[in-house]
Parts: sequence; structure tokens; C-alpha cells
Amino acid sequence: MPDLPSHARVVIIGGGAVGVSSLYHLAKAGWTDCLLLEKNELTSGSTWHAAGNVPTFSSSWSLMNMQRYSAELYRGLAKAVDYPMNYHVTGSLRLAHNRERMREFERAKGMGRYQGMAIEVVGPHDIKPRYPFIETHDLAGALYDPNDGDIDPAQLTQALAKGARDMGARIERFCPVTAVRRERDEWLIVTPKGEVRCEYVVNAAGYRAAEVGRLFGREVPMMVMSHQYILFDEIPELAAWTKEVGHKLPLLRDVDTSYYLRQEKNGMNLGPYERNCRAHWATAGDPMPEDFSFQLFPDDLDRLETYMEDAMRRVPLLATAGLSKVINGPIPYAPDGNPLIGPMPGVPNAFEACVFTFGIAQAGGAGKVLAEWVTEGATEWDMWSCDPRRFTAFASDKTYCVAKGMEVYGHEYAIHFPRHAWPAGRNRKLSPIHDRIAALGAQFNAYNGWERATWFAQPGDDTSEEATQTFDRDGPWQRRIREECLAVRDAAGILDLPGFSRFRLQGEGAREWLSKQITGVVPKPGRIGLGYFADDKGRIVTEMSIMSIGEDFFFLITAAVAQAHDFEWLMKSFPQGTAMSLTDATETFTCQILSGPKSRDILAEVCDGDLSAPWLTHQPCRIAGRWLQLVRVSFAGELGWELHTKVDDTAIVFDAVWEAGRKHGLKPFGMFALDSLRLEKAYRAWKGELSTDYSILQAGLERFVKWDKPEFRGKAALLAEKQQGVKKRFALMTLDNPGPCDAPYMSTVWSGGQIVGETLSGGWGHRVDKSIALGMVRSDLAEPGSKVEIEIFGERFAVTVHGDAPLWDPENSRLKS
Ligand SMILES: Cc1cc2nc3c(=O)[nH]c(=O)nc-3n(C[C@H](O)[C@H](O)[C@H](O)COP(=O)(O)OP(=O)(O)OC[C@H]3O[C@@H](n4cnc5c(N)ncnc54)[C@H](O)[C@@H]3O)c2cc1C
Repeated sequence: MPDLPSHARVVIIGGGAVGVSSLYHLAKAGWTDCLLLEKNELTSGSTWHAAGNVPTFSSSWSLMNMQRYSAELYRGLAKAVDYPMNYHVTGSLRLAHNRERMREFERAKGMGRYQGMAIEVVGPHDIKPRYPFIETHDLAGALYDPNDGDIDPAQLTQALAKGARDMGARIERFCPVTAVRRERDEWLIVTPKGEVRCEYVVNAAGYRAAEVGRLFGREVPMMVMSHQYILFDEIPELAAWTKEVGHKLPLLRDVDTSYYLRQEKNGMNLGPYERNCRAHWATAGDPMPEDFSFQLFPDDLDRLETYMEDAMRRVPLLATAGLSKVINGPIPYAPDGNPLIGPMPGVPNAFEACVFTFGIAQAGGAGKVLAEWVTEGATEWDMWSCDPRRFTAFASDKTYCVAKGMEVYGHEYAIHFPRHAWPAGRNRKLSPIHDRIAALGAQFNAYNGWERATWFAQPGDDTSEEATQTFDRDGPWQRRIREECLAVRDAAGILDLPGFSRFRLQGEGAREWLSKQITGVVPKPGRIGLGYFADDKGRIVTEMSIMSIGEDFFFLITAAVAQAHDFEWLMKSFPQGTAMSLTDATETFTCQILSGPKSRDILAEVCDGDLSAPWLTHQPCRIAGRWLQLVRVSFAGELGWELHTKVDDTAIVFDAVWEAGRKHGLKPFGMFALDSLRLEKAYRAWKGELSTDYSILQAGLERFVKWDKPEFRGKAALLAEKQQGVKKRFALMTLDNPGPCDAPYMSTVWSGGQIVGETLSGGWGHRVDKSIALGMVRSDLAEPGSKVEIEIFGERFAVTVHGDAPLWDPENSRLKS
């Protein structure tokens, strides 16, 4: 083997399943001049000891997509690269102990069907025929996933490595990366064997990703858990059964109890995600060793005892087997449990493919996604759920990461309910009026770390976590959300909205530059408007409110969670060496929403601004002697203003408005009410309707496209799409006879026995008293009056399509009043 090459187009740091899959997919994309550097031997991190389960199930559309792709890839991989390996597609049974779990399964079945997978949901009596050794008396049913299975993680990695090498990519083992340098638009990767110059670099260092991240000055938001599985001796009865039927048992997951149980040869493998879990290397007194290759933590069976007992009650055969071995290894967690795949925040030409908790099941899909990021700068599927930029600086704090990681691990199989707020790692960023809002009964959730009110409870309302464990629309919150929405309709509501991301764009040429970035018109000074940013394929990258302060002076305002993503998107095409500047001003300003027909009367008492200024204008003015920018817009779809103040002035302005408003019926309202109000107006939400899965035209945003502009990003693709005809369109739909639940994200839309679209958000509209779903449907069905069906948790509901116009105040007369 020749020496370390001096140059490669891409260097991948880390040779686990994910790093090697990334190399394989880069080579497959034609980028064969790529080099993987591994500190020790391939698989020596988490990969070698992984149990190798390859589920396709997920309640997230994008993760399911990634896992489905992996399973499909693995099925053909041995043959494709000529490397035999053990991959058993056994199917799996996921047990449900209650109705809500069955609903979760029905939803996953619907998503799976849409992705071409024949997932089944079965009753308790259909479980035993598939798994004869199980006790089912206390079960509500199960999900059967025929694609689930297990693979040998080391063989998988070696197969991918062979495939990559055969295409010309290189792997250098026992070659730790010890430093990196940026020199003339290139990376210099330093190792004991020499230096490699490259264009792009990928951090695929698994549980060591934080250490590698620091070489780039990046604090990767992650922590490390200890995770165990127990291997049991051969069970003669199981051996006899397997011999008789000629196959293994399906993998069993008792998700409500929190473990999986898999047949391993003729024994069993039990892997719990225990509540009383343990973080590793989480404190200064417990540092990560310099080298932990091919090593394990000591067994810690006490933590697993209750799960073993439960599994032995569920599958009594297990109690007859001796325990043969315990595997206890490191597994990394990001604060939301999803991996990091995509651009490394703030670092040019650097990417992340790390912090995988299910890195064997996801390696295939992750490699595809990573390779697309590197080679095309964009991915086929919207992968926001895994984008490293979903976390901003606050999330790298170690105590936060440990608290969140332990929470996610301990609830690895938990159902994610729409009204539930996870309690760990909270109160990281508080509005100056947080206590005032809390005193009014606010229930909170975190948005990019910022605590915002979701709904306002009254004395006696059940605000327990248990109450939120349902997909039902009804719950203690529903009456209050309705009161809040009706207050906004009939009088006025106020919502403190800390953390709106805000960028200041200033300097000669700013207007011209901005015009090339958005599809539509840049508002004139004194006005505000929505700007849509498309990628080269015409897909929606983001939406920002553009507040034009002067000819070449703007504030660009975007979702709280979009802060890092959107700033980076702008910076990528921001020219250097000009008179223009672009800075993040998020921490300096804040916003309160005042909306409702009485909002003018309220402001008239406290504000010196011109309250007759029309919709979509803004002006500086004063309340209680404090400066604010008074912006005449309303995401709630009523007469209203946003009060943009300095953060320090939040309390003074709030108090003045609150005091003046009470006699006008002013009420506080929360994010849940705002969501209901925006659904009635068909306003699209960031990464709900506004995602790269859809083009600007599909999203029904053509009125924001100025075709006669000489140049804007995505123009050619959008023109081509317009000429060819838009195949799928945004539509607001209402359920004719709604059931107990509104349509969750990615429910399938049916017509004539065919899937014709999907929902993106759903909820109850209190002003129109309807269950509303926003979604995408085949273009011929997107017209008002069309009749379709939406499948909600396995049940189909008749639906009327209303096109893309608002259901509430379609003429916007209330907004403009
Ligand atoms: C007990 C247990 C059971 C598991 N079971 C499953 C399962 O059934 N299914 C599943 O999907 N997942 C499972 N996992 C999780 C799975 O093991 C990981 O998600 C997966 O292995 C991650 O792969 P990776 O390539 O991202 O990281 P790793 O396998 O950890 O690879 C990272 C590599 O980077 C190298 N590296 C680090 N620093 C440097 C450096 N400076 N220079 C060069 N190289 C460096 C390391 O040596 C290592 O080889 C399990 C984990 C545990 C602990």
C-alpha cells in the first residue's frame, strides 16, 4: 500500500458503519478521490459491538425514509460488492399495551405504506401465530414490520468498505486525525502518518465526535450513554422450533416496557432502554480515555433487572436460559436523539455524520444523505430532523446535553404526543417577562431553547404531564385554546414571542443582493413582506419576513429554530469585500404579538404611532417612553401589530399594553392558539409546509414569484416546472365529520383508492369550528370543492378541499381594517 496520499477531495474522519457508508456513497456518486482515516481498526468505536438491529419503523417521516433506504441497500449489498454477510430479515413485532400505542402504529403503517412498505397492525390474537412463545393476555395488539431484521455490523462495514475501495476510494487505518488547519480554501488534515490536503472534510467520529469537532472550533451538541444488551444461552425448545419452521422468530419490541428481545442463533438477546440509565464520560472526573477502541464498560445488570423479569414473563421460555454474556458499550446522543448529518455549523466545507444512536439501521441512508450534502450541497429528502444546524450554541452546554440525552434514552420508545413538552433541559432562555406570563397560567415549551407559552391554564385545570399522553384533540388545554382564539377574534390577544431569529442586512447594494436571493419583490422602505428563498431546484429553503428600514437596510426575521440554518444560507452567497454587512441581531430584539379587533383601541391609549398606517407597514414609535418598531402584520389573521422592542424594554412595554388592554378584553394567548389561527388562514409553517420536499410552486406561493425579475435563485427550475405543469399542490382541507383527532403530520390523503397526497399540519380552527389539515395533493384534486379522504390513525375521513385560500377572512378585510 502506498503512503498516505497528500491530497483527497474529501477526507472522512472515522471508520464506523456511518463513516464507511459515507465513503461508499461518495464513491458511488462518482467522487472516488476520497479518503477515510480511522484512528484504530474499522468498526472499533460503537459499531463492532452493536446488536445490529435494522428496523424501518419510525414515527418520523425522514428517519423512516433513511431506514427504509438502509434496509433496501443491505438486502442487495452482499451481491453488489461481492462480500457475503449475515443479514437476517426476520420481521418484527412491536407490542402495544394501550390504545394510544395502537394509534402510533396505525400512523406508522400509513407512512410505511406511502414509502412502499407493507407494515401491518394486528390484534392480540394474531401475535401468537407469529411468535408462539409469547404471553399476550395484556396486549392491545402489535405492529408487524416485515422488513425488520438484524445484520452483522462489522460485516456490513467491511462490505461497504470493499465496495468503496473497489470504486477507487481509500481507507487508512490506524491513522488518527490529531489536528486540522484551513489554508487557502483547503483543509489540511494532520495525522501521525502525515498531512492530507482536501476540499471537504466529514466528522464521522461517532462517540468521539465532540473531540473531533473541537479540532474545528465546533462544540458538537452530544453526550454518551452506556447501553447494554444481554445474550442468553441456547434454548433447546427454541432450537427445535427453528429447525422445524426453518426460520428465526421475529424480533420482539415491548416498547411500552422499553426493551427488545431478539433470537440470536438459538438463544436470545435482550436489550433494554432503561429509565434508570447512566451517562458516561459526562463529568470532568470521568474523562473519555484517549483510546477506547474495541472496549466495553463493566456489566451493570442491576439496572436491567426489572426488564429481564418483565421479558421472562412475556416470553417464559427466556427464564429457562442461562445468561451467557453482557455487552455494555458507549452510544452517543444528541439532545433530541437524532443524528447529526449535514453541514458543520459555522465551518466552511466541513460536514458532520455523527452522534448516531441507531447507526447500524441508519448507516445506509445516512451515507446517501451525507454524500448528497457534499456533492450537491442539498439532499433529495428534506433532512431537517438530522441537520446539525437545528441546534444553536446553547445546546452545546454539557449539562443540557446530558439532561436531554438521558431523557431521550430513558424514553427511547416513548410516543411523541402533540401537546406534550419534554421536561428535561428547560428554562435555558427566558423572556424578561417569563414570570409575569407564568403567573397568568402559561404552560411552556422550548423553541430553540426559548420558553414560550403554549396555552394558559386556569385554576383547577389539569396541567400534569400524564394529561398530555394522548393524540386526542380534547384535553384540559382545548377549552382554553378556544377561549384564547375567540378573544383574538372578538377583542384582542397578546403573545410574548422571545427568540424570533433576526438578521440585520445593511449597506450599499443590499437591496439588489437580496432581490437575487428571493423569488419575489423586496419591500420598499417602511414596508414589510414575506420573502421566499428557493434552492437551485426551485425548492423552498426558507421564508423570512423582510422589514425594509431604508433603501439598503433590512431586518430579516425568521423562525426561532431557523436561526443557524437561515443565517448560514444567507452567508453562503453573501459577497465579501463590499459595503454590505449581515449580522445576527436575535439577542438584541424581541417581539410581542398584539392581535384582534380591539388592538387599535388598546394601542391608541399607550402608543404614539400612526395607527392608521396600512397593513404590511412598520414605523418606529414609543410606548411608555420606550422605542419600538410597530409592525402592522398578524399571523393570527386579525387586525394586529407586532411590537418589536429591545429585549430590555420587554417588560415596560408589556405592562403598558396589558394595563391598557384589560378593559378591552385583552387576553394572553399561546403558541397552540396561534397555530390554530394560522391554520384557518392557510399560513405555511417553517419545516411544516415550508420544506425542501416542495417547490415554491407546489406550495402555492406563485404570487411571491416575480417572473420578470432578471435573476433570482431557482428561477430556471421554477420556470421549467411551470411549463411542465405542477404535479402536486398545497391545499387547505377540512374534515366533513371529524373524529377525536386532527390529522397529524404525514397522514395520507386518498382518492379513488389511491394515495394522492399527504397532510403537513392539522388542528382545530376555533373561528370556523372545523378540523383543518394543510397538505399537498395531486394538482387536479387541489381545487376548491374536491372531495378526498384523509387517513388519521388508520381511519379514513371524508374531506373537502378548499384550495390554497384562507378559510377565515379570505379577503383579508379584518387584517386590513
Ligand atoms: C450495546 C449497543 C447496541 C447497539 N445496537 C444497535 C442496533 O441494534 N442497531 C443500531 O442501529 N445501532 C445500535 N447501536 C448503536 C450503534 O452502535 C451506533 O449508532 C453506530 O455504531 C455508530 O456508528 P458510527 O460509524 O457513527 O460510529 P463508530 O462506530 O463509533 O465509529 C466512529 C469511528 O471514528 C473513529 N475515530 C474517532 N476519533 C477519530 C480520530 N480523531 N481520527 C480518526 N478516527 C477517529 C473511531 O475509532 C471509530 O472507529 C448499539 C450501540 C450499543 C452501545
